[in-house]
Amino acid sequence: MVATLAPESTAIVPTPARTPTLARDAYGRAMTYLRISLTDRCNFRCVYCMPAIGMKFQPRDEMLTDEELIRLVGLFALLGFTKLRLTGGEPTVRPHLVDLIRRMKAFPGIDEISMTTNALLLGRIAPDLKAAGLNRVNVSLDTLDPAKFKLMTRGGRFDLVWQGLEAADAVGLTPIKLNAVVVRGQNDHEVGDLAALTLKRPWQMRFLEIMPLEGVGAVHDEGLVTSAETQARLEARFGPLEPVDAPPGDPARVWRIPGAAGTVGFISPVSAPFCAFCNRVRLTSDGKLRLCLLRNDEIELRDLLRGGADDAAVLREIRAGIWRKPWGHGLAEGDRNTGRGMSQIGG
Ligand code: SAM
Repeated sequence: MVATLAPESTAIVPTPARTPTLARDAYGRAMTYLRISLTDRCNFRCVYCMPAIGMKFQPRDEMLTDEELIRLVGLFALLGFTKLRLTGGEPTVRPHLVDLIRRMKAFPGIDEISMTTNALLLGRIAPDLKAAGLNRVNVSLDTLDPAKFKLMTRGGRFDLVWQGLEAADAVGLTPIKLNAVVVRGQNDHEVGDLAALTLKRPWQMRFLEIMPLEGVGAVHDEGLVTSAETQARLEARFGPLEPVDAPPGDPARVWRIPGAAGTVGFISPVSAPFCAFCNRVRLTSDGKLRLCLLRNDEIELRDLLRGGADDAAVLREIRAGIWRKPWGHGLAEGDRNTGRGMSQIGG
């Protein structure tokens, strides 16, 4: 039984439990949003995400199988998770992606499935993803200059990515959000052109501060551009931005260029952490429940499944893990022990 407030009175009355008791951490934050890394593989090698050399990928047998993944998603749905984000690595290189989305969306309570992607393959698969139940996409787009794009992604084709983005828009994988990691000396001079995409299109262009994850600490140290600096650049070109209300739990602070169809957002994990509003945990492609993006604190779920644990035991482990979710990351204190790179965690 849960207690609810009767609409016609101020009394608290018990009603039959129709919704699950949400999984909360020790600070009272309810977790309802699961970010799932479908793979640590990627068809790009972005400079702020992967080191130039020495990248190691998980052996296939260490990755969750489709059945293990679907079972875990069903258990998270039972715990009251409503929102899933598929990421990676690059989620579109995961075999059986369309079928996985269809099966995830079939769980009662899973209201929204979104995906973070580089869009390279969307030109081919966007209609199938939409038909399977994918709601929307976030697309990484750091530059509009094809030569620069090739450098920042270490080989990526801008024309195909743009086609993918337009395909996603055409089939209604919307509202579309674009992510640019701003790196000094690489794309910081282009933030105005990226923001200008929102003048005519109802997209949200988001500027991310680069985080010092495993393998890219030096790129962070040399390349960090704070959100304040990016905002100042935009305001120098477009005039003062207008604030826009963002949904609770949204890590972005959202603004609009006056008169624009879309919005711009700033995600500032380094200069203005949003840990207080965190409602998310992550499932890595090798089956660890990762409690905080930037802390090397994980709960082993894959071995529990492979050891024959029943659903009740797995649910208990997930709840207990969430309870000890750290309050926030330790970047301000100089703690950079993330243990894995972004592509290995699921950005
Ligand atoms: N391959 C997909 C893509 O490109 O969107 C999904 C995975 S990617 C790791 C997810 C997001 O993480 C992207 O928007 C990317 O820009 C962001 N990202 C990667 N490394 C980052 C870093 N060091 N700091 C901040 N954001 C980062």
